[in-house]
Amino acid sequence: MIASVAPGVWKRSRTALCLLALTCATSQMAAAAECPGHPDALGTSRTLVVDPREHPRIGTMQYAETLPLADQEVVLTFDDGPLPKYSNQVLAILAEQCVKATFFIIGRQANANPEGVRKVADAGHTVGTHSQNHPLTFQKMPVEKVKQELDGGIASTLAALNGDTSKLAPFFRIPGLLRADAVEEYLVSQGIQIWSADFPADDWRHVSPSRVYDLAIQRLEAKGKGILLLHDFQARTVAALPRILHELKARGYRIVHVVPATPERPATPTEPQQWQLHSPSETVAIARWPKIPSFAFAERGILPAPNLSHFDWQDSELLHGVRRSRGVPLPPQALWPRPSLSVQTSALNTLPVPAANVFKIPEAARVTLLATNSRVKRPEPTVRAPRAAASVASAGSARSRVAATPSRRAAYQVAPPPAGRDAHGAAKHPAAAPSNPNGRAVRVASLKKR
Ligand SMILES: [Zn+2]
Repeated sequence: MIASVAPGVWKRSRTALCLLALTCATSQMAAAAECPGHPDALGTSRTLVVDPREHPRIGTMQYAETLPLADQEVVLTFDDGPLPKYSNQVLAILAEQCVKATFFIIGRQANANPEGVRKVADAGHTVGTHSQNHPLTFQKMPVEKVKQELDGGIASTLAALNGDTSKLAPFFRIPGLLRADAVEEYLVSQGIQIWSADFPADDWRHVSPSRVYDLAIQRLEAKGKGILLLHDFQARTVAALPRILHELKARGYRIVHVVPATPERPATPTEPQQWQLHSPSETVAIARWPKIPSFAFAERGILPAPNLSHFDWQDSELLHGVRRSRGVPLPPQALWPRPSLSVQTSALNTLPVPAANVFKIPEAARVTLLATNSRVKRPEPTVRAPRAAASVASAGSARSRVAATPSRRAAYQVAPPPAGRDAHGAAKHPAAAPSNPNGRAVRVASLKKR
């Protein structure tokens, strides 16, 4: 319900939003210049005003576009709060550095901690929403259910803000980033901007704060700028955040605060190419991958099904099982390399004893092959076939040893090939037909794939 009237709500609050924006922008510019009591603070370098309707999907983890940031500009985002125990600490850390961020509120959390939502807004941060109940099923959810989750989250957050729509941005992050076309189309139709991210720090996983710090910095360094995805309800995030902010400052990164455009607060002028993480160059060949269909995250206590990228792509059955469970279409079968190769290899251990007539190799040719493979001098032609077979067993594979046991010796049969033909029934090549003193060919038991 709320989402369907949300655009109207935004319109009615234009004047209030305008005044608020001007005030915020002025105060943030001042904060960037000086952070009272903290002369070495990271600060907020500028405020970026975006129009959700012009760029409805942002974040290169999933989309072609992201925020139009300059090199070394970073946007901080926090999901899943408020949870007072940790969210208040995050707010204190950000305040100490005079840093403004964007918070994606869960409606249920807002109902439980409405004061926490007000603290976020009153501190000057941007407040977006993150669904009512944070279900990790958005990728397969009927639009009607999506509507309920979106509307519920907005209604709960707005209620916590005492109905002040000027403090609520039409920014939405899909729980678990589990996007789907129908979901996005509905959100876009409501004037909502869908926020993915440019890099996470894995702070929803069971990793150490040090690991969160490492990932945040390493992934930022790899891209040079972008939207960092964090969670303000995690103790490890609280522990890692001061060090992350300190390192951002030390490495010359700058914080950008993002607010939504209104008619009275026009979007920051940008060029289309600025909305790509790295603007295309005429002199550098680039290839863009298709957007990721479903990038799974869990910001809850229970870890979700792992991301597809965690699986060995050769493990086709496991991969396909995960895709099926998520309703993700199976990819077309790759012609090469065959993903089931490892399965075939392991199956060899259970194959039955092969038929004796599968491969028939004339003794002379086999002895030549044996000599070549074993890197020894070619045996004298007087070597008898059964002994040669035993030597194959002793020097060869475990399967050969099995074949050489008495119970398997029936697999070896000695019979002359047809005149003028080799053991495969093919005509002999004159140059490849060394004489066999016994005039016999040996049928060697071999594997047969079934
Ligand atoms: Zn979340």
